[in-house]
Amino acid sequence: MAYSYEAPVSQSLFDRASLVTPGGVNSPVRAFRAVGGTPRFMVSGNGPYLTDADGREYVDLVCSWGPMILGHSHPAVIEAVQSAVARGTSFGTPGEGEVTLAEEIVDRIDPVEQVRLVSSGTEATMSAIRLARGFTGRTKIVKFAGCYHGHVDALLAAAGSGVATFALPDTPGVTGAQAGDTIVLPYNDLAAVHEAFRAHPGEIACVITEASPGNMGVVPPLPGFNEGLKAACAKNGALYISDEVMTGFRTSRAGWYGVDGVVPDLMTFGKVMGGGFPAAAFGGRQDVMAHLAPAGPVYQAGTLSGNPIATAAGLAQLRLLDDAAYEKVNAVSAEIQDLVTQALGKEGVAHRLQTASNMFSVFFTGSQVRNYEDAKKQESFRFTAFFHSMLAQGVYLPPSAFESWFVSTAHDDRAIERIAAALPAAARAAAEATEVSA
Ligand code: PLP
Repeated sequence: MAYSYEAPVSQSLFDRASLVTPGGVNSPVRAFRAVGGTPRFMVSGNGPYLTDADGREYVDLVCSWGPMILGHSHPAVIEAVQSAVARGTSFGTPGEGEVTLAEEIVDRIDPVEQVRLVSSGTEATMSAIRLARGFTGRTKIVKFAGCYHGHVDALLAAAGSGVATFALPDTPGVTGAQAGDTIVLPYNDLAAVHEAFRAHPGEIACVITEASPGNMGVVPPLPGFNEGLKAACAKNGALYISDEVMTGFRTSRAGWYGVDGVVPDLMTFGKVMGGGFPAAAFGGRQDVMAHLAPAGPVYQAGTLSGNPIATAAGLAQLRLLDDAAYEKVNAVSAEIQDLVTQALGKEGVAHRLQTASNMFSVFFTGSQVRNYEDAKKQESFRFTAFFHSMLAQGVYLPPSAFESWFVSTAHDDRAIERIAAALPAAARAAAEATEVSA
C-alpha cells in the first residue's frame, strides 16, 4: 500500500534505531509491522495530543496502551514527579510512597488484602503464578488463547495481540519445559475449563485470565464466565488469578472487579497505577500473600520495586480518579464509539464494536467476537486502510486490529471534533480496501 504522507524525521530516527535495536523498537507492536509504514517517533504529549518528531500533532487513542487515563502531562502528576525527583530517585530502602500506594490499592479493591509492588505487568503475572504454584504445591496453569499476560515464558502460548500481529506459531526461546505445564483453552468456554480440571485432577495451581480481555481486541467475558472460573477453581483447590494490568483502575475505580464483582484469589495490576512510570503490582488474599518472601518461602524481589518517582506518579494519578473522572472517560469513549459506528455504517463496512466499560475496539467482521478464533476471522486489511487514513489526518490509533483503543479525561470537544472529521474518509478507505491493497 502506498502512503500519501511523509514522516521524514521519524523515518530517519527509525533508520538509526534499526541499526542499534532489533526491529528499531523496544516493544514489538510499536514497529507498525501489522499495518506497514513508518512508526511515529513522539517527542511530546499534552492532554489528548501527541506530537511527533516531524512536528505533526495527533489525537492519541492509544494513551501509552492504557496508563495515560488523565491524558499526557497532567499538571498534578508532573508536579508530584518533580517534587519526588527533587528528593532523590531511588533509595533501595522502604519508603512512605510505597505504603501509601499499597494502601490506596487495598482501599479500592476489596479482594486485595495485601499487595507487592513490582515494575512491570510481566513481573506481576510471573510472580503471581510462582506464588500460586508455591502456595498450592501444584505445577500446571491454565490460560486462555488470545489473553496476553506479558512476556512470561510459561504464558507466551497463544498470547494475543503482539504475538498475533507477528503470527508466531510459537515463541523460539521458550522451552517445552517452560511451556509444558501451561494448558491453553479457548476463551469464554467454561466446558473446556471443567474438562481441564477433570483431565488433571489435583495438578492445576491456577487459572489466569484477563479480567476482561483487551489483547485480542476487546472481548469481554460472557455473562457468568468469570463467576464460573472462580467456582471451578474453588471446587478444585486452584487459585483464580484475575489479570487487571489493563483493566485495573481504568474500567472503574476498582477496575473490572468493580464491574463484575467476582472475587479473585490473586490479582495483577500495572499501567494506570504507575501514572506513566514503571510501577505494577500483584496482590490478593492475605493467607496466599503470606507465602511471599520475606514473610514466606516463595522468593520475589526487585531493585527498583516501589521506586519513589513511580509511586509518586501513580498515587497522584489514582487520587484524581474519582467517580466523576470515570464518568468523563466513559462518556468520551461512548461518544467516540458512536462516531466510529456511524461512519463505518454509512459506508456499509461490516464491523463489530466491542466494549468493556471505556475500553473498546472495532472488529472488521459482522459477527460477535467471543474468543481469539473469532477475532482472527476479521478482515484486518480493512483496519490497515482505516488506520492509515486516520493517521494521515492526525489521529493516532493502535497500530494493530487486535488491540483496545484507550481514551482519557483530557479528550475534550476539540479532540473529538478532530476524530469526527477524520472518520468519514477513513471509513471510505476501509470500505474500498482489498486484501491485495493492504
Ligand atoms: N497483562 C496484561 C493484561 C497486559 O495487557 C499487559 C501488557 O499489555 C501485561 C500483562 C504486561 O504488562 P507489561 O507490558 O507492563 O509487562
